[in-house]
Amino acid sequence: MGKLNPWQMALEQLDIVAKKMKLDPGIHQKLAHCKRILIVSIPVKMDDGSIKVFEGYRVQHNVDRGPAKGGIRYHPEVTLDEVKALAMWMTWKCAVVGIPYGGGKGGVVCDPKKMSLGELERMTRRFTSEISIIIGPEKDIPAPDVYTNPQIMGWIMDTYSMGAGYSVPGVVTGKPLEIGGSEGRKEATARGVVFVVEDACKHLGINIKGATVAIQGYGNAGSIAHKLIEELGAKVVAVSDSKGGIYSEKGLSASAVNEYKARNKSVLGFPATKEISNAELLELPVDILIPAALENQITRDNARRVKAKIVAEAANGPTTPEADEILYENNVFVIPDILCNAGGVTVSYFEWVQDLQAHFWDEKDINEKLRQVMSKSFKSVLDIYKKEKVNMRLAAYMLAVGRVARAVEIRGIYP
Ligand code: NAD
Repeated sequence: MGKLNPWQMALEQLDIVAKKMKLDPGIHQKLAHCKRILIVSIPVKMDDGSIKVFEGYRVQHNVDRGPAKGGIRYHPEVTLDEVKALAMWMTWKCAVVGIPYGGGKGGVVCDPKKMSLGELERMTRRFTSEISIIIGPEKDIPAPDVYTNPQIMGWIMDTYSMGAGYSVPGVVTGKPLEIGGSEGRKEATARGVVFVVEDACKHLGINIKGATVAIQGYGNAGSIAHKLIEELGAKVVAVSDSKGGIYSEKGLSASAVNEYKARNKSVLGFPATKEISNAELLELPVDILIPAALENQITRDNARRVKAKIVAEAANGPTTPEADEILYENNVFVIPDILCNAGGVTVSYFEWVQDLQAHFWDEKDINEKLRQVMSKSFKSVLDIYKKEKVNMRLAAYMLAVGRVARAVEIRGIYP
């Protein structure tokens, strides 16, 4: 099976919604292009004294509704096309939940698992310096994504601030609390996922208490989703990471698996479980499947074998357009990525607002505001899904692309 190019997939998704909405061809063309792409080389002094040059990207897809917003990914297989797709998805995501941002994304081709902390810090600082010409609290605000974390956001904030000559906490979100981070940001993506899963269960008449769950990917999104959905009484029977998955009919305790993964670097080998592959995990007979790893997981090759009633896309781009149609035919209720995982960017927005005002809210306020945003957005998408009789992804795209297209129309084309 050839891997679908994520940028082609993002364009295809845009084509589908443009056709459905009879979008003006000029606006369609504008939205099918990224506003700005910066490719940088990042020379880093490695611990052994040698110099290694990494390649990095920062892409701004669209800023018609506000500054660009989107995470930075460190991964050996990052490509410019992947970053462009992720930037476009950020544009739609911010529009779906109605926060005043456009879409951006960044990436560095590297294997952070094979780098020391010092090497990671030097690479992050040089990357920040290279992209500092286009980022800033009013321009483009990065955040964490795959294999980047609050410490890395702290280095980005510090490096940018050194250039400015004063502290600029609003240049990046997902920072540690001590330097202007927000309560609840670490849990926000997973919390948002679980909020919309609850809403979907209500819509479908599924009792979340006792519902079975499989989660692919055990990082920020996946591991915290495990904890939060367990708190609602659901039974997580399978989880996985890049090394493979584990299954237990009796259910897996979030605290025990988290502790095990912290000690052993993988969920594999967790006592009293059966080892399964990432592919097998996706096909388990569970009520709720949460892909929380990478793109291109549910494709035309395996979509027919997905047995879950709900697919909650914590990851970005886990389902290809062909797979979407198959899932829709098979009555699988997909909560699309741009809605499902928007809790992360929503609390990032709260963090940025708090930084700009230098006034911080407590976690209860954050979580309540997050619930309001997620449930309101879920309802808006569900209304379109019912009215237009389209799948949930197309419904979310109609809402998002409609909002961005209106902003483009109102602002007009310069000059
Ligand atoms: P992370 O780095 O914290 O965790 C990634 C996890 O995926 C790890 O457990 C890793 O072992 C696993 N993984 C990597 N390759 C895999 C593979 N081939 N098969 C199975 N598992 C694999 O990253 P994260 O922040 O949790 O991001 C996960 C997904 O969620 C990504 O698609 C990301 O874009 C999306 N997302 C994250 C946020 C956020 O705030 N962190 C927000 C929105 C969307």
